[in-house]
Amino acid sequence: MHTHTITIGGYTLEALIDVEGVFFPLSIVFPNVPETAWEPFRAWYPDTVSGSDKLYTRVACYLIRGYGRTILVDAGIGPGPAPLFGHACGALLDELARRGLTPDVIDTVVLTHLHPDHVGWATRDGQPTFPRARYIVSHAELEAFHRDDVRAAMHAIVPGYLDQCLAPLEGAGVLEPVEDPVELSHGLKVALAPGHTPGLLRVELGDATSAVWLVADVFTHPAQITYPEWCSAFDMIPELAIATRKAVVERATTEGIQILASHFPPVPGLLHQDGASIRWEPVSR
Ligand SMILES: [Zn+2]
Repeated sequence: MHTHTITIGGYTLEALIDVEGVFFPLSIVFPNVPETAWEPFRAWYPDTVSGSDKLYTRVACYLIRGYGRTILVDAGIGPGPAPLFGHACGALLDELARRGLTPDVIDTVVLTHLHPDHVGWATRDGQPTFPRARYIVSHAELEAFHRDDVRAAMHAIVPGYLDQCLAPLEGAGVLEPVEDPVELSHGLKVALAPGHTPGLLRVELGDATSAVWLVADVFTHPAQITYPEWCSAFDMIPELAIATRKAVVERATTEGIQILASHFPPVPGLLHQDGASIRWEPVSR
């Protein structure tokens, strides 16, 4: 699929699509949103819905290069086959190979959160997939995903993935929990944006004049920019997720911050006031 290379703050940023397609009914992902409420968004974001009641979803990871650093943000669904995604096999390593990159060039992997579609390639065969990388996660996220209730809930979605994807990183001593916020590289920062998960990290690039935020699953669908109160079934702390969405919409709108989200079309967008509503508009380059 066609993606753009973005230049921002001395870095190049590319979305790498691990998988895309039609996997989930809208009514499952957004159980509290009536079908008719989707009508305007079918027209605004035609490449995010399929048929009358399905999402068209991507799972994007990001490759960021600059200042001698090679950073990967998120690790997709993994080698698969992944039952949650139609038994698909993730394409992340192929996408890296197409760019002439082997896993050992990655120096840092940011795990925005620990849901199964963001950590799939973190390990292979019980070893870190990216052998030279330190893996960044928030303290809050790591603490939450050690709790029995959270582990049981995750196990119900994808059995065993935390044991496969997280435990080997901890065993190898490459997992680096961070506090909020922290600069990982020149002008590249992670900051807490909790609610979808207890310690979700967004990645911020750029400066006051031009910035891009990788917000992962703060928004699952761009309709949530217009209606931050729409919660996905995967929002673990709904009230906090709503508050975070509102805060991100406020800042992105007033400061002109471009927003990239893991499951949106893989291009950055600006938030524009359009009549009574705010919408996400992909930036054409
Ligand atoms: Zn996700």
